[in-house]
Amino acid sequence: MTAWRPRRTHEDLGDVFFDRVAAARFPQLTLRYRNVRAAASVGLDGLSDADWLRHFGAFEPLPGSLDVPLALRYHGHQFQNYNPDLGDGRGFLFAQLEDLKNGRLLDLGTKGSGRTPWSRGGDGRLTLKGGVREVLATSMLEALGVNTSKSLSLIETGEELERHDEPSPTRGSVLVRLSHSHIRIGTFQRLDALGETEAMARLVDHALKHYYPALWDDAATDKAERLLGAVAESVAETGARWIAAGFVHGVLNTDNINITGESFDYGPWRFLPTYDPAFTAAYFDQSGLYAFSRQPDALAWTLTRFAEVLLPLGDHAGLEAALNRFWPAFQRGLRLALLDRLGIESQGDETDMALVEDVFRFLYQSQMGYERFFFDWRGADAARADRTSAYLGAEFAPLRAALTSYRARPDARLDHAYFARSAPRTMLIEDMEALWAPIAERDDWTAFHAALDEIEMMRQAYSAG
Ligand code: AMP
Ligand code: MG
Repeated sequence: MTAWRPRRTHEDLGDVFFDRVAAARFPQLTLRYRNVRAAASVGLDGLSDADWLRHFGAFEPLPGSLDVPLALRYHGHQFQNYNPDLGDGRGFLFAQLEDLKNGRLLDLGTKGSGRTPWSRGGDGRLTLKGGVREVLATSMLEALGVNTSKSLSLIETGEELERHDEPSPTRGSVLVRLSHSHIRIGTFQRLDALGETEAMARLVDHALKHYYPALWDDAATDKAERLLGAVAESVAETGARWIAAGFVHGVLNTDNINITGESFDYGPWRFLPTYDPAFTAAYFDQSGLYAFSRQPDALAWTLTRFAEVLLPLGDHAGLEAALNRFWPAFQRGLRLALLDRLGIESQGDETDMALVEDVFRFLYQSQMGYERFFFDWRGADAARADRTSAYLGAEFAPLRAALTSYRARPDARLDHAYFARSAPRTMLIEDMEALWAPIAERDDWTAFHAALDEIEMMRQAYSAG
């Protein structure tokens, strides 16, 4: 008997959407990270370590779900250039399971599981450092209230890889992520490029039915508009949460934008040390196209590409109206995200918006630690904030007055041990490197696991109710 509820819904889309592929056979499987909470959410918590390795290292199918992994096909704009040569080149859809809490359809997708028809010149592999980075990014973002994919499993593979952006040879790994869909804007772009309008209509149906069931109506004549509007709002919400978390995704290509709006695919991500609108994560992003403060624009750009390819299925004005839901949703999302991070009650849109502006002005002018500010002002409690002298100067007086006019939410959890710490848990590049160094030097995982424990504490402190 299994505790999980297996699904294989993606197969319904038909063979034009994927290729059946086989996983690489790795010389050795060493479990490095197992996300107990995420596993429990889909009923995988009962697996022994040996079974875990068989399923998430050797990719023996989960009974009842897919018999064979599916490498998903997609195109996409990379740094605004159209690339028809994409697709799952080092990953596949391994299984689908129900979220036991609410019945959502979740994907178990891989990163680093071997070559596929879409690997081009690549080796289909993920470095161990890349895997560690994805685990840290997803854990931090979840703790900070961002709707993100979860890292379910990280297994070291015993392979040595060559990379130009890491000292090589470097250790290999395979990651399994739990994600609310792997359908991307690029999945639609591919069908448009191939003139597959019928398949696109099928995909619109599928996306509404499984990912926006409240909007699903088989008889509706405005399905494309409904989907675009919902995606625009979900993506806007995630963009707003990134800003409130001080996060730079790094690669906002259309193939990295999930139609559920869930944040995913973590490569060269970074957190901001202090507020710098031009802060860029990827070394190869020389023009700063995906810099911190350009992320909302970048997301709006990807949604415009989405709207364009939906034109054969929708009404021009209707699609435009749906697309235009992005900016109001982003503004609203930013207000709410900041209130959430500060753990304070709303005072109405206008007052809240003024607070948002004051906060960003202060963060810019003071160059106060980004995470530090939210940590210090949790619950707008001046007595706590004044443990440091950073907020006493005359230049802070207006923001201080604004903040102290706010009431802490009953569930702001100011009594949580996390908020009694002298400093917040951060995951700046130097924090990440400090966690990686002992692993690289002497295979010592203590700091990594200790950091994950701290992040879990932070998640509990920030989670409402
Ligand atoms: P990403 O930057 O991870 O979103 O990947 C962009 C594209 O490159 C996707 O089609 C990936 O599957 C592919 N890709 C990235 N790294 C590799 C690799 N090591 N081997 C094969 N394909 C890769
Ligand atoms: Mg990607």
